[in-house]
Amino acid sequence: MLITRTSSAPATLTPEQQALVEALMTRHGDIRLAREVNGVHAYITCPECLQEDGEPETWKKHLAINLDRWAQGHNRAAQCMKTGQVFEIDALTMWEPLEKRGYSTGPPKIRDQLLIREDYLETDEHGNTVPKGPGLTVPLTGLPEDHPCIYYLRSRNFDPAALEAQFAACYCYEDRKDLKYRKLTGGFIDSPGGRLVLYILQNGVRVGWQARILDVQDEQAHYYYHPGRQAWLTIETRETPECPWVRREGWEEFEPSKYLSARGMRRNSCVMGYDAAMKWNRLYRAGKKRFVIVSEGPLDSARLGSPAVAICGKVASEKQCEMLSEAFDVLLVCPDNDIAGSKLMPYIGQWVGAMRPVYEIKVPARFKDAGEMSAADAAVFRVSTLAPLGLL
Ligand SMILES: [Zn+2]
Repeated sequence: MLITRTSSAPATLTPEQQALVEALMTRHGDIRLAREVNGVHAYITCPECLQEDGEPETWKKHLAINLDRWAQGHNRAAQCMKTGQVFEIDALTMWEPLEKRGYSTGPPKIRDQLLIREDYLETDEHGNTVPKGPGLTVPLTGLPEDHPCIYYLRSRNFDPAALEAQFAACYCYEDRKDLKYRKLTGGFIDSPGGRLVLYILQNGVRVGWQARILDVQDEQAHYYYHPGRQAWLTIETRETPECPWVRREGWEEFEPSKYLSARGMRRNSCVMGYDAAMKWNRLYRAGKKRFVIVSEGPLDSARLGSPAVAICGKVASEKQCEMLSEAFDVLLVCPDNDIAGSKLMPYIGQWVGAMRPVYEIKVPARFKDAGEMSAADAAVFRVSTLAPLGLL
């Protein structure tokens, strides 16, 4: 099989790894390769997410396979970055090809997404190589109260100044010109422009950022902010809050990323809110045990406030856990209330082991995640969890 690489600096695969990648490709379509701290990973279309979410999964590719671990004999070194589910690698090579499952595949290719891709990176003012910024931005506290980004935050009861302190949060008003982005329905572009940007600062270095789309909903309509038209557009409607959302005509194919990540960002070694959590402990826990609250999404950690951090996914990597146990004495894990049950606690437990005490703290069952709580609920939750652990 002919394998086209889209990068000039490919990862080196052993012949066995190459054969595995080809076998996976015939079943799951094209593959993206990334060199990460703990090995070269192949990202493929997750068969379970494909069933759940359909077509978008064919380019999101949530299933990460650690090719180096596999080479060391780990058949279960395959995990969905969305759900945390672990797959047997040999079983993955036996799935029906994508075409037979009703999806088209392009020409077979491996898309290298090596972190050395220079067009994704830039040098910061201290000489560190970091992912390129999102574009032109304004800090949240520099925006007028009637700005769409402030409106989005207020509608969800977030405090712009607190977000700025925790994540150097800002609004991106213009995309950079040197990167290309996916075009979406109705003149939307899947780019950071027109989004809320949250930076990931680790030891003073801006190691990445995520940009959240601005959307708000009321009882009967779901609106997205269209930066080009500078207007909120109704994309979905429902008769009552109990009814399912129905797409408006012409918007059926609209699938924007809820969060966009900086390209070239080492996702597995990013902990959002890390520096703010360390600073919080320096200020308020001097001479006491330093603790951190580990949540899944950026707005979960925003809702809980410092020292809450986000691992920006459902699965914590070895590197993330190492960073957390280095900087904090006690880890509180606050997973989403998934129906399937979150895997976050077992992963963190597995990597942190006996190095640090790890406690699971669960938001009340009526909330899907911490981000869904009101600011008042979050304040009560925080006190009622920290007090019994002696962390107040
Ligand atoms: Zn999945």
